[in-house]
Amino acid sequence: MGTSEDTKPVVTNNRDLRVIFLDVGQGASQLIITPSGKTMLIDAGNNDKEQTMINYLHSYGVSRLDVVIGSHPDADHIGGLDRVIKELPIGKIYMPKIMSSTKTFESVLDAVASKNLKVKTAVTDIDIDLDNQVKVQLLAPVKTYDDTNNMCAVVKITYKNTSFLLTADAESKSEQDMITSHGSDLKSDVMLVGHHGSKSSTTARFLNAVKPKIAVIQVGENKYGHPTKPVLSRLNKQGIEVYRNDLNGTVEIDSDGSTLNVQKER
Ligand SMILES: [Zn+2]
Repeated sequence: MGTSEDTKPVVTNNRDLRVIFLDVGQGASQLIITPSGKTMLIDAGNNDKEQTMINYLHSYGVSRLDVVIGSHPDADHIGGLDRVIKELPIGKIYMPKIMSSTKTFESVLDAVASKNLKVKTAVTDIDIDLDNQVKVQLLAPVKTYDDTNNMCAVVKITYKNTSFLLTADAESKSEQDMITSHGSDLKSDVMLVGHHGSKSSTTARFLNAVKPKIAVIQVGENKYGHPTKPVLSRLNKQGIEVYRNDLNGTVEIDSDGSTLNVQKER
């Protein structure tokens, strides 16, 4: 299992929070590195991105993950997670309480068991302890839903005066329930556009509640028409700056607590 014990330091300048939207094609993965070098990974792309994920983590100098979140059991999010869990020391892992009979999901549970980890339930109103200076809150799932997308863990990260909302594949039902139960807490400077820009997410009401300045769409070549025109035009109408993995490669947004700095691969 391992190349994991090397001690190459995580690259941090002790000032910036780094939120990195890794280009994993059609899928999602966000790597968070805090000012003090704590690390959190939300999702890890599809099954064919396992090696890509390991390479990314190496290139960012990440040799341990303090927190891992599997947003929901879909393969384009947790496909690469089993390998990541096996290869790196992991602090805590969170997933929503929804089961799946897929081999992908079972591989993740096997990896968790092989490391003697226990999955903590991702559900609304949980604060995750990552770094003293950075607040990490789970805002969803607010209720129990039948479909996996609405069961997605939604994460809000706040560093001083800046904030990020990472919505995974949450759809309109979950968005509505987040508006009802979190209201103005949803407001964030950066938003990951829900479900790769599917029209079932990013409702106008939700965008009005979050009011992001910057939106990121994690999307690659796909047959679903992601990102959809209605979502792109909603973002456009509100004058939101949009970055996309398919056009920009990996997108990193750093915060010094007051200013955001966007770096894109292309
Ligand atoms: Zn997805």
